[in-house]
Amino acid sequence: MKVRTRVAPSPTGDPHVGTAYMALFSLCFARRFGGQFILRIEDTDAVRSSEQSEQKILESLHWLGLDWDEGPDKPGPFGPYRQSERLDTYKQHIDLLLSRGHAFRCFCTPERLKCMRSEQIKNNETTRYDGCCLSLSEEQVQKKLASGQEYVVRMKVPEEGICIIKDRLRGDIPIEYSQIDMQVLQKSDGNPTYHLAVVVDDHLMEITHIIRGEEWINSAPKHKLLYEYLGWDMPELIHMPLLRNPDKSKLSKRKNPTSIGFYERMGFLPEAVINYLGMLGWSMPDGEEKFSLSEMINHFDLERISLGAPIFDTDKLRWLNGRWLREELDDDAFADRVSEWAYNRENLKRIIPLIKERVDVFSEITDMIAFFATGLPAFSEDDLAVKNLSTDQIKKILQFSLWDIDALVDWNRDSLNKVFEDLGEDLGLKIRDVLAPIFIAISGKPISPPLFDSMEVIGPDLTRARLKNAIDILGGVSKKLTKKLEKEYQARRSSGG
Ligand code: GLU
Repeated sequence: MKVRTRVAPSPTGDPHVGTAYMALFSLCFARRFGGQFILRIEDTDAVRSSEQSEQKILESLHWLGLDWDEGPDKPGPFGPYRQSERLDTYKQHIDLLLSRGHAFRCFCTPERLKCMRSEQIKNNETTRYDGCCLSLSEEQVQKKLASGQEYVVRMKVPEEGICIIKDRLRGDIPIEYSQIDMQVLQKSDGNPTYHLAVVVDDHLMEITHIIRGEEWINSAPKHKLLYEYLGWDMPELIHMPLLRNPDKSKLSKRKNPTSIGFYERMGFLPEAVINYLGMLGWSMPDGEEKFSLSEMINHFDLERISLGAPIFDTDKLRWLNGRWLREELDDDAFADRVSEWAYNRENLKRIIPLIKERVDVFSEITDMIAFFATGLPAFSEDDLAVKNLSTDQIKKILQFSLWDIDALVDWNRDSLNKVFEDLGEDLGLKIRDVLAPIFIAISGKPISPPLFDSMEVIGPDLTRARLKNAIDILGGVSKKLTKKLEKEYQARRSSGG
């Protein structure tokens, strides 16, 4: 059997280290057995998906050297590899499931579903669709369709019995059907959900092994049923352990930078990041911690994956990166890599217009441009102080701008300018006061080259990390304050601010 694996990110945010983790293991497995590794973009959620996010995912995986054989930018025999371009295929399969009686149309309104759910919660029951529309006759369905009523398509699920999910790492996992929801397969806008699309694509793209995070185990029974309904064999399942924060919670950007771009901008070597991800839950037969991608491929063996919760520890990654720098780069290579990283021509050409007017001799440049490349600038709590504003107010400015920036799609000086203008207006503060702590957070100094142009060059990953760093320097945001700020922030959003 020819091995075919895939990684299937949804382009709904920054390229996540978890995506790189799945890509790495999928690639190693395929390469080890002379198979193929595919990149598929799962963008059926049209509201949350963006082209920019897709672009960044592709760039980050390329930066890491995780190259695929087929993908949206690499045509192959099973394309297209972007789900939004495969809608007709999903439609055909949904129609097939309907005609075979494995799926049904559900006309329940969001209000009814909400009521049903709160009732189930009140009764301590599993929240799942109660099957109301299962009893509609064909005639009733046709009548509703003719009157233009909105509907979704749901899959049927046996009322009782146990589904056995076979996981290569975990053995048989029994899950009761009574815990499985009658999953929506087609949304009211006619688009498929992840569950339908993933099954159809994995089958049609001839994927043999699905390597993905353990958070998908509970979805596996739905997928298994769909494979059965469609008369297909299910690929082998390999659910990897979830990456965790040092406190063992699921890796989250609130506690740890999760964007691959952050590690690139901080000056980590892609080889070290790959090596580190490989070390999380996997080990070389000789126990050596430092290994390259090709060494990992050559020794790859699923049996060596450990299911213990792997902790993503940035200190350990730093240590490993240091080893790579010292042991693998001679001075020539070091110089090449540093200039490739931040001091390349393209980058300098973006910085020069921001400083040219302010210098007479080159020696003045160093100090002025250091903050473009520095990871997290050093400053103290006092540097962030603004006259007449309390520490909590300054935390609020920083936290609100962090959330605003998280949601910003177009990263440029004008959209950044608007974020801060709106923020000042909404908070009833002078723009000067709003920007004072931001200047410090970003550049470490009260005066710097133009702030928004600088942020544009620094990029979203480092900008966010620096805002977060400033919050941490102020002592962080307590759980209580986070709740209060979240509420205020929501209110501000819904009032159109
Ligand atoms: N699009 C899904 C995700 O976010 C893919 C899950 C899978 O690999 O099946 O990550």
